[in-house]
Amino acid sequence: MTYQHKDYQGRLLPFTPGKVVCVGRNYRAHAEELGNSVPEEPLLFIKPASALQPFSKPIQWPQVLGSCHHELELCLLIGKHLEDPYPKQAMEAIWGYTLGLDLTLRDQQNLLKAKAFPWERAKAFAGSAPMGTFIPAKEIKSVKDFQLELQINGGVRQAGETNAMIFNILELLCEAARTFTLQPGDIIMTGTPAGVGSLRRGDELYLQLQGASKQWSWRTRVAG
Ligand code: ZN
Repeated sequence: MTYQHKDYQGRLLPFTPGKVVCVGRNYRAHAEELGNSVPEEPLLFIKPASALQPFSKPIQWPQVLGSCHHELELCLLIGKHLEDPYPKQAMEAIWGYTLGLDLTLRDQQNLLKAKAFPWERAKAFAGSAPMGTFIPAKEIKSVKDFQLELQINGGVRQAGETNAMIFNILELLCEAARTFTLQPGDIIMTGTPAGVGSLRRGDELYLQLQGASKQWSWRTRVAG
């Protein structure tokens, strides 16, 4: 199944899926739960387009590489070319929002970190960015004070709010655009709140985004 960006109604969007720019340690409580320091500038890394997969496809990872952690993240779909934007231009380039998972092979990542090696094998493997369908930005306007939540098998595992981000959406967008250039179809994952943990075979995941007296939800599952 080839991944294609779709809107919340399931309609295909006219953007070729591109790179996924991720930010590490963007919520203080999450940085602390893994014993990491809080960065002074955004800690950016990239997953390739082959990391994207729709929530309709069950989550899988190379089991021989150890544990796979869920990281619930608010995701932005970029709709315009951005290189060195001024703030209004940057915000207008957001086509839409969704929730996604920055899947992380945590045992692998710890091994790589210990050797000061790059994280790609732990973070950028095929299918490592399961992604929801997108809510158009014009329906939301701003995601300030939004809540995001992940339930697994009916229990809340991660909950956070967008206003607890260390670097806000505008700062992340500008930094990512200046560093990498953003193109239509690219994604930005904005970091995970606390509560990351291991996924298990057959887990049922329910993701919910709430704000401006509206609520959206998505479901996915881990392969059995
Ligand atoms: Zn993450």
